[in-house]
Amino acid sequence: MFGLAPVDAIYMDYAATTPVAPEVMATMQAALADFGNPSSSHAWGAQADAHVEAAAAALGAALGVASDTLVWTSGATESDNLAIMGAARYRAARGKHVITSRTEHKAVIDACKQLEREGFEVTWLTPEADGRVTPGALAAALRDDTVLVSLMWVNNEIGTINDIPALAAVVAEHDALFHVDAAQAFGKVPVAPAELAIDLMSVTAHKCYGPKGIGALYVAPRHGVQFEPLLFGGGQQGGRRPGTLPVHQIAGFGRAAALVSEQLEADRVRLDALGRDLAARVLAVPGVVLNGSATERLQSIVNVSIEGVAGEALVAAMQPIALATGSACNSRDVAPSFVLRALGRDDVLAGASLRFSLGRSSTPEDVDTAATRFEAAVTRLRDMAGDLARVLP
Ligand SMILES: *Cc1c(COP(=O)(O)O)cnc(C)c1O
Repeated sequence: MFGLAPVDAIYMDYAATTPVAPEVMATMQAALADFGNPSSSHAWGAQADAHVEAAAAALGAALGVASDTLVWTSGATESDNLAIMGAARYRAARGKHVITSRTEHKAVIDACKQLEREGFEVTWLTPEADGRVTPGALAAALRDDTVLVSLMWVNNEIGTINDIPALAAVVAEHDALFHVDAAQAFGKVPVAPAELAIDLMSVTAHKCYGPKGIGALYVAPRHGVQFEPLLFGGGQQGGRRPGTLPVHQIAGFGRAAALVSEQLEADRVRLDALGRDLAARVLAVPGVVLNGSATERLQSIVNVSIEGVAGEALVAAMQPIALATGSACNSRDVAPSFVLRALGRDDVLAGASLRFSLGRSSTPEDVDTAATRFEAAVTRLRDMAGDLARVLP
């Protein structure tokens, strides 16, 4: 369906990134041909600007928001940084307390750590063992000087879905802004920030069949939802995020957003069923446990810990099925997943974890192949460990 994968390879790493849909490539190519600067007032500029306007309308429609509430960024990392550091700095005179959780994406965690270096105090909530932050825990952490709360909609390592409507209602009782990282949620679960008390929300194209390097920040059109920019330069995007707009990237994101919202329900039903089948097979292997919530989860992300094997050895043994031990951004890091550690898994089980993530091109045959290979690999690695233990008493 997509790309030029080796014939027998199976891509099961959709949480890391998704293939670019052919329709998206075509849209991007057309936008590249219209090379004008969208800020220019001549015809070339207007032609380029039309691509940007169309994309903003498409993304706005997919999110149920007005197109002028969207700020284009280079991806969810920048959206998270802009929302968190920008809003906290803007509001510093009112208070210097920020709340987030220990299982956020690094783009949120490291932005909050930067705020700590700047003199803010950050409360790091520990989610329940199933990976969810409870409204009660959030309510207990909110203070009069809390200026910002940042929590993710869907976790990228374990697929757990936070109860964002309930969490938003808790924040709304305070004078704090609520930022949501929806990078993994958009295109997979219905995401309509304007219906909730969400002030700022990050999305990115490459998690929903669009190109890498383009994202957006939704900014609720409410009084007081303001932030300081991270970049300074031309006056593009009202100065909130200056720089010449990457027209082809934006056009690709717009097209991808339109496609995922059209296909959301159908994809969700199909991928939920596939994910449930995969989880049932994988969890039937003795000594394999699910990470994250069994029910409040994107069923298309199946993250398991396996007793008696090393995660890296298992990823190697699963070749040519492309999987991850944690998030792609941290996979060069050999330390056990900080997300799984925060949920109470010990170092050994947190280190022996595997994330299967399914997407549009996944088939029942892929799931069967992956599960069969998993069963065989776990058995073989455990046998090898047993042999080694006999030779090396
Ligand atoms: C991928 C991801 C990001 C980072 O997005 P980029 O566009 O790659 O910068 C942030 N948060 C979550 C939850 C993600 O899955």
